[in-house]
Amino acid sequence: MRTIALRTPSAKYDVVIGVGVLRSLAVGIIKLAGEKPARIFVITSADIWALWSKAFLASFVKARVEVVTLFIPSGEASKRMRTVERLTEELADAGADRDSLLIAFGGGVVGDVTGFVAAIYMRGVRYVQVPTTLLAQVDSSIGGKTGVNLAHGKNLVGSFYHPLGVFADIDLLATLTPRELRAGLQESVKAGVIRDARLFAYLEKNVSAILSGDAKALEYVVAASVKMKADVVNRDEKESGLRMILNYGHTIGHAIEAVTGYKTLLHGEAIAWGMIAALHIALHRELVTKKESARITQLILRYGPPPAFHKHPMQVMALTAGDKKNRGGVRKFILPTGIGSTQTVSDVTKSEMMRGIAAMYSVMKDRAGNKK
Ligand code: NAD
Repeated sequence: MRTIALRTPSAKYDVVIGVGVLRSLAVGIIKLAGEKPARIFVITSADIWALWSKAFLASFVKARVEVVTLFIPSGEASKRMRTVERLTEELADAGADRDSLLIAFGGGVVGDVTGFVAAIYMRGVRYVQVPTTLLAQVDSSIGGKTGVNLAHGKNLVGSFYHPLGVFADIDLLATLTPRELRAGLQESVKAGVIRDARLFAYLEKNVSAILSGDAKALEYVVAASVKMKADVVNRDEKESGLRMILNYGHTIGHAIEAVTGYKTLLHGEAIAWGMIAALHIALHRELVTKKESARITQLILRYGPPPAFHKHPMQVMALTAGDKKNRGGVRKFILPTGIGSTQTVSDVTKSEMMRGIAAMYSVMKDRAGNKK
């Protein structure tokens, strides 16, 4: 079991990571709440609940805490204001008050929606994150960003609202599809590239253990990824500087998600292609060596390969203009300068972007050729 501390100006809490974390979940939550709540409200999805309700409920039965369960359909389509409205009404129907405690038990969708509901229900109630996907364990449950999508784009409504704590049980990852696991691992590859050369080397050396779900290997990867993100968020909670490095691969990655209608690729897969495109912009600027660039591309492909897609490079580039991270029309790019370091630049030209996207497509094509 490993504990990683989040210590920001507005919140202090721990992320507990390990095998069997669910077994002591109720005790952990009672400790955080300062007293035993009569009941807690769990927000989850039916597919997750079908797999994991027994393991989830055991510690609450033992502690004699009543569990009220609220459901949202799984998938990105649930991350909308209408879900928030329905959940808050269900909470009100069930008699939830200002002292109530919510638990997000699911992937990034459940976590983002529950965090936002917690931020606004009765002007804010306490909540805990129990992430069930790799992506949620290494990324979305950490750092206090909550919110929902609009028809205009992803995560356009939301707030910074930290949980009381995060409990990441490695056992939960055993029921993920191999594709979900691989997509989540791309965020760990990102963590290695931007700030943790040791994690990068570990990911290189332990591919088969990690992909086969070895609990020890996954615990290391989750803990190192969380540590990297916590360290960044602790220094720059509201993304005024350093936290931007977490967006490596996201400018083009978000455009890829949008251009493919959020349907063809999982979030981590789109980010994987976005990382390859940004890497080639860095390579062209000679910020990164050919050798390092090859290692990064190879690792991304080992944990993929992310599915191919076919959209005109101009369409992808056009959509980078809508990225909500842009400020005053300027696109910020995080470019790797080696394994474990980056540079933030705001002067990437359209032709550099086109070159990066073209290089990404050529990696995609080579990959398809190799598979034949
Ligand atoms: P997801 O929440 O849609 O979960 C993926 C699928 O896996 C769903 O069908 C879900 O029901 C299923 N699932 C979840 N846990 C499972 C388990 N243990 N076993 C079997 N199936 C399981 O997707 P995700 O990748 O976890 O999260 C993506 C979301 O996270 C996006 O909306 C993205 O915007 C958001 N995100 C947020 C942040 C943040 O900082 N808040 C960061 C990155 C991503």
